[in-house]
Amino acid sequence: MRGQRGAPAQQVQQTGDQQPGAVHALSSTDALHAVGATAGGLTSEEAARRLANYGQNRLPEPPKRTPLLRFLSHFHNVLIYVLIASAAVTAILQHWVDTGVILAVVLVNAIIGFVQEGRAERAMEAIRGMLAPRSAVLRNGQRQRVDAADLVHGDIVLLEAGDRVPADLRLIEARGLKAEEAILTGESVPVDKDTRPVAEEAALGDRTSMLFSGTLVAAGAGRGVVVATGPSTQIGRISGMLSRVEMLTTPLVRQMDIFARWLTVFILLVAAGILVYGYFVGHMPFAELFMAVVGLSVAAIPEGLPAVLTITLAVGVQAMARRNAIVRRLPAIETLGSVSVICSDKTGTLTRNEMMAVTLAAAGDHLYSVEGKGYSPEGAVRWREADAHPSEHAILMEFARAAGLCNDAVLHGFEDGWRVDGDPMEGALLALAGKISRNGPEPFPNWSRTDVIPFDAAHRYMAVVHHDHEGHACIHVKGAPEVVLGMCANQRTPQGGTAPLDRDYWHEMIDCLAAEGQRVIAVAARPVAQDHTILNTEDLQGKLTLIGLIGLIDPPRAEAVEAVAECHAAGIRVKMITGDHAVTARAIAAQIGLKNAERVLTGADIEGMDDAALADAAVTTDIFARTSPAHKLRLVTALQSRGLTVAMTGDGVNDAPALKRADAGIAMGQKGSEAAKEAAEFVLADDNFASIAAAVREGRTVYDNIKKVISWTLPTNAGEAMTIIVALFAGMALPITAIQILWINLITAVTLGLSLAFEPSEPGTMRRPPRPREEPLLTGELVWHIVLVSTLFLLAVFGVYAYAIDKGYSQVLAQTMAMNMLVVLEIFHLFFIRNIYSTSLNWNAVKATRVVWASVLTVIAAQFAITYLPLMQAVFGTQDVPFLDGVLIVAIGAVFFALIETEKQMRLAFRRPAELQHG
Ligand code: ADP
Ligand code: MG
Repeated sequence: MRGQRGAPAQQVQQTGDQQPGAVHALSSTDALHAVGATAGGLTSEEAARRLANYGQNRLPEPPKRTPLLRFLSHFHNVLIYVLIASAAVTAILQHWVDTGVILAVVLVNAIIGFVQEGRAERAMEAIRGMLAPRSAVLRNGQRQRVDAADLVHGDIVLLEAGDRVPADLRLIEARGLKAEEAILTGESVPVDKDTRPVAEEAALGDRTSMLFSGTLVAAGAGRGVVVATGPSTQIGRISGMLSRVEMLTTPLVRQMDIFARWLTVFILLVAAGILVYGYFVGHMPFAELFMAVVGLSVAAIPEGLPAVLTITLAVGVQAMARRNAIVRRLPAIETLGSVSVICSDKTGTLTRNEMMAVTLAAAGDHLYSVEGKGYSPEGAVRWREADAHPSEHAILMEFARAAGLCNDAVLHGFEDGWRVDGDPMEGALLALAGKISRNGPEPFPNWSRTDVIPFDAAHRYMAVVHHDHEGHACIHVKGAPEVVLGMCANQRTPQGGTAPLDRDYWHEMIDCLAAEGQRVIAVAARPVAQDHTILNTEDLQGKLTLIGLIGLIDPPRAEAVEAVAECHAAGIRVKMITGDHAVTARAIAAQIGLKNAERVLTGADIEGMDDAALADAAVTTDIFARTSPAHKLRLVTALQSRGLTVAMTGDGVNDAPALKRADAGIAMGQKGSEAAKEAAEFVLADDNFASIAAAVREGRTVYDNIKKVISWTLPTNAGEAMTIIVALFAGMALPITAIQILWINLITAVTLGLSLAFEPSEPGTMRRPPRPREEPLLTGELVWHIVLVSTLFLLAVFGVYAYAIDKGYSQVLAQTMAMNMLVVLEIFHLFFIRNIYSTSLNWNAVKATRVVWASVLTVIAAQFAITYLPLMQAVFGTQDVPFLDGVLIVAIGAVFFALIETEKQMRLAFRRPAELQHG
C-alpha cells in the first residue's frame, strides 16, 4: 500500500484525466495499479494527500447571481413600478417631501426583500448541506464511511442496492450488480455490471466494467476503485452540473402569490377609477387626489405578503431541521399538517435498533441465554443456570460460525464501548460469535468467503459459502425462520449429531421467543465440496441442516411511545409496517402503545385480498407483519383510496415507489439508501419516529403561521384602504394622510407582519384533528374576519378623527390621532391573531415571544418619533398628541381587542365538541 505513493498518482493523472476511456479495457488488477491503489484501499495519509493535490469530488457549482443583481431584482414588481411612477409625478408637481418618502418606501422595501431572501436562501443552503451524500470506502484496509466529496482516485468504494454511485469506478468485485444509468445514457432499464474488461472503444452504455458517478445501483452489491472524481467524471464532462435549484415555495404560497398579483391589478384599476371619478365628478385638486390614490394603492396591495410567507416557510424548514426532519421538497410541508395516517417501519424507527442476541434455541428443548453488554464480543452463554462451553455443547460453535460468517458487519471497539459498521442485527450476531468463540470481533479469520446471496427484504435470507485452508467448504444461511425452515431437511442436535427436522417443535419455539418481542432468525448450514465456490439458490432448497434459532432483543424507543400517544391525540393513526414476524410485531406494538394491537395482517394476507378488501382491512388494522416493499405500495394506495393523507417511512431501494406514492414519503437518514432518500419528501436525520411526530407538529405550525400572516395582513390592508375610499367618496378630508399611510405600511409590514412568521406552535396544535386536505385557505371564517376587523378599524379611525375635530383640535392633530389609532389597532390585532385556536386571555398570550415584543416595541418607538419629533412632524404633518388622548386611543384599542376576542370565543364554543370527539 505504502510503496506505491508518488509515481502511480502521476499515472492517475494520465488515466483519470487524459485517457479516461482506458480503465474499462484493463483487467481489474491493472486498473488498481493504474490508479496506485491496492485491494485494501488507500492509507488515510495518502487519501489526504491526493485530496489536497487534486481537489474535492464535487461538480462545480452553477454560477450564482451577484448580490447586486439579486438586489435589483427586488425592484421588479408592479407595486414598485407604481411607486416609482408616483414619485415621478410628485416630483413634477414639485411635492418634494412626498417624492422623498415614496422613494424611501421603495428603497426600504427592496432592502427588506433582499435581506429576507438571503435568510431564506441560507436556510435552504444549510438543509442541502445536511443531505450531503456519504460513501462506504476501504481505507487502511478497513471499511469506513466518508463524505462523498472526500473521495479520491484509488479509493475502494463499497456499493449496494440503492446507493448513488459517488464517482466513476472501475469494478473489482460485482455480485448481481445492476446499475440504472438513465441520466448518462437515457436508457431506463438497469444494466448488468461485472468486472470483465470491455473493448476500449465501447460506448458509455456498454462499459459494463464501470460504474459512473451519479447513476444508481439498482440491485446487487460490489466494490470498485475510483478512477475519476468531480469534474473529470463522465457526468462532470457532459453537463457540468445538473442544476437542482429548489424554489422556496409551496402550492399555498404560490396561490397567494397569484392572488396578490391579481389583487394588485384589481386595486390599480379601482385606484385609477377613483382618480378619474374624483377629478371629473368630485372636482378635487389633482395633486391631493393623486397622493390619496397612491396612498390607497400602497395600503391595499399586500406587497410584503409573498416575502413574509417565504420567510415563514424558511423558518419552518429550519425548525424541522432542528427536530431532525429534513425537508427535501417544500410543498410537502403543507401536506404534513394534514397527515391522518403514519405508516412507520418498526426496526430502528419505533425501536432503537440496538440489537443484542439473548436466546439460542437448539433442538431437544435446549435453550441458551446469552449475557453481555451492547455490541461487546464478550459475555457468557448460559444453560440451566450454568456457563455453557462449546466443548460440551458442540452446537454452540455451529451457531457462532453461522452468525459470524453469514455477516457483513464490522465491530469497532472504542473507549466507551463497541460500535457497528453495517446492519445492527449483524453486529449483534458478530458479537454473539465473538462471545462463543472467544476470538474477539473477528472470530473466524481462517475462513474466506467465495460467494454470497445478499439479504433482500423480499426473500428474507442471506447465504454465504466459505473455504478454509484445510480443504473444508461450507454454506451458511441465516434469515427469517419460515424461510430457512423451508430450506432444511435435517436439524443438528446439541451434541453435534444430525436428526430429521421437527417442524412443529420449531414453530412452537418461534412463537415462544417472538411473544417476548424478540426478533427471531434461524441459522442453517451445509458442508459442500471444495470446488464449490459459486452459490446458487438451488444449492439451498431442501439441502440444509438447521442449527437453531437466535432471538434478539431490540427495545422500543422510549420517546416513540410518547410520540405515538401524541399522534393519537392529534387524530393521527399510527400503523406499523414491518418485515418481522407477526408475533414479534404484536409484542412490540403492545409495548409502543399502538391501538388495536391484537390484529395483525401479514404479507400473505395482503396478497390474498383484492383492492377493496385491502382498503377495508388497511383502515382498521394497525400492524402489518412479514410484508415486503411491494406490499407497502399497495397499502399506501389502499389508505389513500379511503381519503386518508398518508405518511410512509422507508429505507431500501425497493421502498422508493411507496415513498413516492405516499403524500409524505419519509426516508431514513442513517440506514436509508440514497434511492429512498431521493424518492422521499423528508429525510429523518436520526431515523426516529419521534422526529416524525415533531415534523407533523411543525407542519401544522407552518400552515397555521401562513394562515396567521394572511389573517393579519388582509384585514389590515382592507381597513387602511377603506379609510381612504370612504373619505374620498364622503367628500371629506382624509382622516389619515396618504404619506402617513405610506409610513404605516413601511413600518408595520416589516415588523408586526413578519413577527408572525416566527410564531411557535400553539399549545393545542397536537390535540386538534388533522386539517382536511381540501380545506381552502380563504375560508368563510377568514372572509368574515376580514369584514369584521376592517369595519371595526374604520369605525375606530373615523370615530377618533371625528372626536378630535369635535373637540376643536386642528385637522393635523386629528389626523395624527387617527394614524396612531390605526397602529394601536394593528398591534392589538397582532396579539389576537397569535392564538386563533385558543384564548388570548392568559399570561402566556401576553408574554408572547421575544420577536413579537421586539417588533411591537419598535413600532411604538417609531410612532413616538413620528408623533413627537419636530423634524418628523415637519415631514409627515403631525402634532403632539395630548397625554389623555393617547390613553384614550390605547383604551379604544383594548375595547377592539375585547370585541374580537369575545367573538372568537363564541366561535370556538361551537368548534370544541367536534374536536373532543376525535381525541
Ligand atoms: P424490518 O421491518 O424489521 O426492518 P426487514 O425487512 O429488515 O424487517 O427484515 C425482515 C426479516 O428478514 C427479519 O425479521 C429477519 O428475519 C430477516 N432479516 C433481516 N435482516 C436480515 C439479514 N441481514 N440477514 C438475514 N436475514 C435478515
Ligand atoms: Mg430492516
